[in-house]
Amino acid sequence: MSQTLPCLFVDLPVVRANAQAMVELCEASGIHPVGITKLACGAPEVAEAFVEGGIRVVGDSRVNNLAKFKDLPVEKLLLRIPSVSNALDTVRYADVSLNSEPHTVRALSAAAVALGRTHKVIVMHDLGDLREGCFSADDTVALARLVTELPGLTLEGLGTNLACYGGVEPTTDNQQQLVDIAHRIERELGVKLQVVSGASSAALPLLLRGGMPEGVNQLRLGASLLMGIGLNDDPIPGTSQDTMRLGVEIVELKEKPSVPVNSTALDAFGNKPVFEDFGIRKRAICAIGKQDVNFDDLIPQDKAVRIIGGSSDHLILDVTDSDLDYQVGDTVYFALSYGGALQCMTSEYVRKEYLH
Ligand SMILES: *Cc1c(COP(=O)(O)O)cnc(C)c1O
Repeated sequence: MSQTLPCLFVDLPVVRANAQAMVELCEASGIHPVGITKLACGAPEVAEAFVEGGIRVVGDSRVNNLAKFKDLPVEKLLLRIPSVSNALDTVRYADVSLNSEPHTVRALSAAAVALGRTHKVIVMHDLGDLREGCFSADDTVALARLVTELPGLTLEGLGTNLACYGGVEPTTDNQQQLVDIAHRIERELGVKLQVVSGASSAALPLLLRGGMPEGVNQLRLGASLLMGIGLNDDPIPGTSQDTMRLGVEIVELKEKPSVPVNSTALDAFGNKPVFEDFGIRKRAICAIGKQDVNFDDLIPQDKAVRIIGGSSDHLILDVTDSDLDYQVGDTVYFALSYGGALQCMTSEYVRKEYLH
């Protein structure tokens, strides 16, 4: 059974244009961007739009998602550090993965040998954001050495992740530190690294102002392609933010007071609700709820519509001030924050429609 609404509409031509703009921007500086599909749960439609926009490597944080576009003729990169328990599928579905643990790298080597394949490894160095990566350059070099010694693996390069956990901004200085460690690995191990993977969409402002040092030749881009945003969720010049919108259906429309009658109990989430009296208002109940999306992540496209609350399965809007004459059965549209898009993509109750 598939309901028409709620529905997340994804405008693939806009996503494709964003990909194309970022590929052009990056390639002018000798950088090859990876297109990241994790926000779209690895939707093959999105991966295809990226490829049409010129993307040659597609990445996702989950192996299950990479498996969804296993037949797409691109290199597949696993973003989240692989799980030892999932080493076989990692090698099966990812051509390359980001790694920081000797134990995991050994498991990938054993899996690659068992499957008769070669798996590429990008060693991760932590420049202070404190998510994944070896924290000392010595550990990073040692892990890179281990990769070169293990059968079934090739050392593809060095990477870092920033602005994800610790909010550390990509700078000329920290990107140069990464390049320096890459040179040290090349010197000490006598190898040539194919990839120096600088950061995510958060590095685009640095690239745009000409501050990216020579030597970084890969960026991993998700939010910039899928939503036109980067560092601090600011819009990226040259991209469109109009890639997705959520449509929800009005299932009740009535004039009611703005303060409940004899309110004494807690709401469905155990909070004591507080109300301000705006008199009688026109209220629309929509068929979507907190089980699908956090209401703070919704931005009504009709600026006169106000979100006043709801529960697990109901979203209540105040539509009194709108110029539109809403009716039961009408669709109300919302733009989404990154978190809101992620939740809608993940909710099985929200249909996805890819506009071609
Ligand atoms: C999610 C992720 C990215 C992409 O980040 P965006 O902000 O969506 O561009 C890049 N690298 C890693 C390791 C990630 O987990």
